[in-house]
Amino acid sequence: MAANWQRGMMRLMRIANHPAQVVAIEDYTPWYRRIVFRAPEVTASVDGFPTLWLRLWVPHPAKGEGFLVQRGYTFVTLDAETSTFSLDFVLHDVAGPAGDWAKTASLGDTLEVALTPARIDIPDGTTTLVLAGDSTALPAINTWLESVPDAVTCRVFVEEDHADRGSLPQIIRENGTWEWVTREGDRGAALADAVRAAVSPGEGIYGWGAGEKTLVKNVRGAFREHLGLDRGHHFTQFYWIEGKATG
Ligand SMILES: Cc1cc2nc3c(=O)[nH]c(=O)nc-3n(C[C@H](O)[C@H](O)[C@H](O)COP(=O)(O)OP(=O)(O)OC[C@H]3O[C@@H](n4cnc5c(N)ncnc54)[C@H](O)[C@@H]3O)c2cc1C
Repeated sequence: MAANWQRGMMRLMRIANHPAQVVAIEDYTPWYRRIVFRAPEVTASVDGFPTLWLRLWVPHPAKGEGFLVQRGYTFVTLDAETSTFSLDFVLHDVAGPAGDWAKTASLGDTLEVALTPARIDIPDGTTTLVLAGDSTALPAINTWLESVPDAVTCRVFVEEDHADRGSLPQIIRENGTWEWVTREGDRGAALADAVRAAVSPGEGIYGWGAGEKTLVKNVRGAFREHLGLDRGHHFTQFYWIEGKATG
């Protein structure tokens, strides 16, 4: 039997797992689903901040009965009073344990989750936040929009081809813009062009980007080369790789 090394490693690192039970399911589109979990241990032990994510343990039946793998998902709500949090799932067409689990999730289903300590802060003096990604980054983008002070201008760019993309959850701020970008060529090429066309280099800009690996590479290029942002003024992270399972 293959070793469930991910779980073994997490135990060695003393990262605790906590139960989370599905209590509500809401579909924004046929391929984008919000799932609300009841998880008192989680809500009691975590403070929300933008982009906070967790590791969700999901069954991977192809690897054997009872085999679990972890996948990253972003908190979109976190409410200590009701002991609930929610995650948004892109229900992608290609099979994958987390996407497949979310497609068939039912009320009462229980999973385990592990928390991640990574915390991100924007530097003092930030006046414009540039947020760019695909729909897997949308949950994190919305947490930014809910958290940053009103005085900070937020420029959002999301590359997403579905015709019903306008139905996705979007936090609207007075001081900000949303731009949906349709893919052209490599993932993120049109997205990076959109950032270059809409945002001029200047003081006080912080860039954040996430999504598919090639898309993120393109966004990072726009942040560094066009906007001239140094390491302290941008953060990018790839969330998934086209054609490759997470492991
Ligand atoms: C920090 C972090 C936060 C994240 N937050 C979210 C989030 O809030 N919501 C969210 O939906 N995702 C989020 N992701 C991305 C998610 O973890 C990946 O999409 C993951 O690959 C899904 O796992 P899976 O088991 O469904 O597919 P995997 O087993 O990893 O992959 C199976 C196949 O599906 C493809 N695939 C995976 N994801 C997608 C996709 N989105 N679109 C098209 N094809 C895909 C892969 O290329 C592969 O061919 C986050 C990732 C990280 C690291």
